[in-house]
Amino acid sequence: MAAPLICMTLTGKTLLEDIELARKYESYVDLVELRVDHLNDEDQLLVRNFPSKINLPCILTIRRDVDGGLYSGSELSRTNLFARALAFAENDHGKNFAYVDFEEDYHVPSLQDAAMAFNVKIIRSFHDMNGTVHKLRQKCMEMRKTGFEIMKIAFMPEKLDDVVNLFEEGKKCDFDHIFCAMGPQGLPSRILAALSNSYLTYVSPEETISNMNNIGHLDPITINNVYNFKKITEKTHLFGITGWPLVKTGSPEIHNKGYKNQNLDAVYLPFRTPAVSQAMNTAEKLGVKGMSVTIPHKETVLKYLYEVSPEVQQIGACNTIVRKNNHWYGYNTDAGGFKRAFLEILGNEKIKRKKVAIIGAGGAAKAIAYTIKQLGCKACVFNRTESSAEKLAKKYGFKWATLGQSSEKMLEEYSDIIVQTTSVGMNSTESSNENNDPIYFYNFDGHEILYDVIYVPSLTPVMKRAALAGCKISNGYTMLEYQAYEQYKLFTGKDYESK
Ligand code: NAP
Repeated sequence: MAAPLICMTLTGKTLLEDIELARKYESYVDLVELRVDHLNDEDQLLVRNFPSKINLPCILTIRRDVDGGLYSGSELSRTNLFARALAFAENDHGKNFAYVDFEEDYHVPSLQDAAMAFNVKIIRSFHDMNGTVHKLRQKCMEMRKTGFEIMKIAFMPEKLDDVVNLFEEGKKCDFDHIFCAMGPQGLPSRILAALSNSYLTYVSPEETISNMNNIGHLDPITINNVYNFKKITEKTHLFGITGWPLVKTGSPEIHNKGYKNQNLDAVYLPFRTPAVSQAMNTAEKLGVKGMSVTIPHKETVLKYLYEVSPEVQQIGACNTIVRKNNHWYGYNTDAGGFKRAFLEILGNEKIKRKKVAIIGAGGAAKAIAYTIKQLGCKACVFNRTESSAEKLAKKYGFKWATLGQSSEKMLEEYSDIIVQTTSVGMNSTESSNENNDPIYFYNFDGHEILYDVIYVPSLTPVMKRAALAGCKISNGYTMLEYQAYEQYKLFTGKDYESK
């Protein structure tokens, strides 16, 4: 089977918008899908010339609302639209639609015959927006109308097992097919389309990706530049990150850049799941040899591990798992990553005499408290839930306090270095307030060093405030990078930074 194509779905309101998007991304994709159901009424009547306006083959799709599209008119009017779009076929095939998508229950022989006569390939599709399809191959056989179609099944997986099943079913098919699992859990089916022998994978331009809400498309640049999609084959080594909901993560960029630089046939991708055991099961079935583990799985993963490193034992959280000799081994690279980032921001300052405030007592704080203790600093843990602060602080002989106005004096005492480890401020670009700045009650005077483990946005509200007061600041991207380098070594045996 040939490598899967990249098809960009166009969901603009006007043909002009879609033409501009097709031209903008033409070097990243192999074909486009014109979603007529997203066009305004007037432009729906004018799609016939669309293929001649772009330099890519085009799929004609008029998706009904029941199948996840926007078309709510009658089947008769939909048939009229199909007929208008396919009519007056040109000898130059580039000026016609190259494909048309007919749902499995849409059977109009005259349109089908016309499509075949004009060399327009038929995609015969089935969508389940709410549930899983298990017997994909069998379903394709039942759906086939002509024997020449490309069979497409898109479904919403209930769990990652359903995605593993998709790969297994895809391998069994000896006919052209497109299998995609939608939603956050379905992402591996899109990036690893080569593993299911899928004919293509769908992407959406950044500009209109929100129109495909819930479907789980990547954008054309990310699938190429971050995931190196065209190079993925059955032989590619797989690594990943598991978490939930894991909406944003910078880890794939870091790891995949390393593979590219060092010419390794490997890809790193998200395995989003609310159950870490599902991710581990998937990894075992797909041959994934290592995974980063993030919120909320860093502690729940422990019970599935065969052996853990001394750091994991001490910290009580694991952010890296490696598959060796049919067993899972757990590591914590957050601690090492933070240590390097922390020493970097401190520069030549003598740390032993410094008093450190650790804001938060969650997973990140646990690895950070361990490091701060190792470095011999005095510290105080401040947390919204005081009992968690107490538990963490007692482990290392630190002080603790509730996070809030009442602890202002205590924070002043431990303000040489403030390490912000809560999720407060993540994704916030507004100026500081009670909801986005965990220490809104504290006034910086400029002597503090602030390290915020958050890295999106790159300047959090509390960082902005500290910078204005003249403090030395850093976001958590350095920690993310350095902990990823340690993972990279555990996964591949290679030093990330060596050429
Ligand atoms: P976690 O285990 O869920 O802990 C969350 C922490 O944030 C807890 O201390 C929690 O306090 C506190 N918190 C949450 N909402 C709060 C609110 N509204 N007000 C006050 N405190 C609040 O999460 P985590 O794994 O520690 O991650 C925390 C952050 O660190 C995330 O933004 C994550 O992306 C980031 N992180 C960055 C790196 C990196 O490499 N840069 C590594 C790991 C984590 P309670 O105990 O009271 O709930």
